[in-house]
Amino acid sequence: MEHFLTLTLADETPEQREGEGPSFHWRWLGRGVLELTPYAQGELSLLLSCGIHGNETAPVEIVDQLLRELSRGDISLQCRMLVVFGNPPALAQNKRYLLNDINRMFGGRWAQFPPGGETMRAQWLEAAVTTFFTAAGGARWHLDLHTAIRTSYHVRFGVLPQRNQPWDESFLSWLGDAGLEALVFHQSPGGTFTHFTGETFGALACTLELGKALPFGQNDLTRFAPTHHAVQALLGGATPEHAHNSVVRYRVVQQITRRSEAFHLHMAAHTLNFTPFRKGVLLAEDGDERYEVQRTTEYVLFPNPSVAFGLRAGLMLEKLS
Ligand code: ZN
Repeated sequence: MEHFLTLTLADETPEQREGEGPSFHWRWLGRGVLELTPYAQGELSLLLSCGIHGNETAPVEIVDQLLRELSRGDISLQCRMLVVFGNPPALAQNKRYLLNDINRMFGGRWAQFPPGGETMRAQWLEAAVTTFFTAAGGARWHLDLHTAIRTSYHVRFGVLPQRNQPWDESFLSWLGDAGLEALVFHQSPGGTFTHFTGETFGALACTLELGKALPFGQNDLTRFAPTHHAVQALLGGATPEHAHNSVVRYRVVQQITRRSEAFHLHMAAHTLNFTPFRKGVLLAEDGDERYEVQRTTEYVLFPNPSVAFGLRAGLMLEKLS
């Protein structure tokens, strides 16, 4: 398991498919998926995923480091853990995706896309995660680590899937301790990995956006230290150092969807995530459809005019706190 990342990128099957670490049994389940079972009786089942977008390499390097720390015995594992490198062929090519974005396909939505490597991968990951989460009781967490395409007023932030049950405040405060400056709450379902695990298994799930996407080897991993330390503590069964920063909360109030060739997003190409817009401002047009700011102030997240038809070209947020 020391060469898990190298094997994953090269699409090689390890000679040894399971074995013993200092504090856990490990099992290779397929390309980019590793299950760790602690010798200790853990209460938590943690799905730690990264590389769902293949150009977002820093989180993959962090998870690779965490696996080394576990192998060396620097961390004594106290929770069940499933490690997922989401889209290995895209990772190997430093591309966000090859045919279609996997993070729109979960919850069976892969069936609505033309069949390809990514639809098969999403389907297979759903099965692997189902086996993992249904094998044990206790708390279920899913941390899906990403980096954003554009720079942002909040350097690190989390996006939380729509959830009918209330959020566990200890989970939200852990996210603050992991260095997140803002939390964005979705109000409607989506095809993301975290929506799938939240909806299907009740997992406390968050998509963590940890800075800007750069190729392998160009990441300054010191910028990811708060998150790295918090996950280290989580794996070892400890509480992370309390960050004492206030975390700003937002909720999604509208989605801008690109439906046709006529779509036009009225924002500069370099618009930062969380840029505020005043009430009445025209945000986008798509033929007869017009998107305007409805509230006093709305903040834009993930503006991207060049998505495929029917997909999200941006989200508008309202500040809660
Ligand atoms: Zn991403």
